[in-house]
Amino acid sequence: MFVALEGIDGSGKTTLARALLDRGYSVTREPFSEVTREILSILREPLAKELVFYLDRLYHLEKVIKPRRTKGIITDRYKYSQIAYAYARYGDSSLYRRVLKLNADLPDSDLVVFLDISPEEALKRKPGIAEDARPYGKPEEFFMKVREKYLSMADEHWIRINAERSRENILKEVLNCLSKR
Ligand code: ADP
Repeated sequence: MFVALEGIDGSGKTTLARALLDRGYSVTREPFSEVTREILSILREPLAKELVFYLDRLYHLEKVIKPRRTKGIITDRYKYSQIAYAYARYGDSSLYRRVLKLNADLPDSDLVVFLDISPEEALKRKPGIAEDARPYGKPEEFFMKVREKYLSMADEHWIRINAERSRENILKEVLNCLSKR
């Protein structure tokens, strides 16, 4: 099974991914390669950045996710992140539609674990994320747009976890969902 952990910055994805790794699950993340992360830190042009995110995902899918899909693999972020953030950054623009079109050809994960948290709580947990949001407006409003876009993509393959609870309760609920699949 291929599982994607999603949620706005500060929702606890990385914390949960580490706990799942400690429990013996195979865990990976996006952006996958170190080179991608370095390129993204230098690039400024929005279309180029979006394409780099997409290329990293293609590589990650072929080299890491597909070979482990049957045994089980959990990724911290997947294509849903790119779609939700591109929408919050660029609105319903040609750039956003390009991002949608590119990702439309990629497989959906079998399950999306969506860590749902209010932007206010996420900003309290991880204050640094305010700076990343600033170019696109007020941080609370930016992350609310990201959250709403995520929620608009949710279907029967998504589970929504109340991420404002303790780490232990979140992990327990997620382990319970995973064990039933
Ligand atoms: P993300 O990967 O979604 O950006 P992180 O896992 O990095 O989120 O968590 C953001 C911050 O919140 C970290 O400092 C982390 O220790 C803390 N954190 C994670 N989960 C919880 C939780 N359930 N309750 C309180 N703080 C949390």
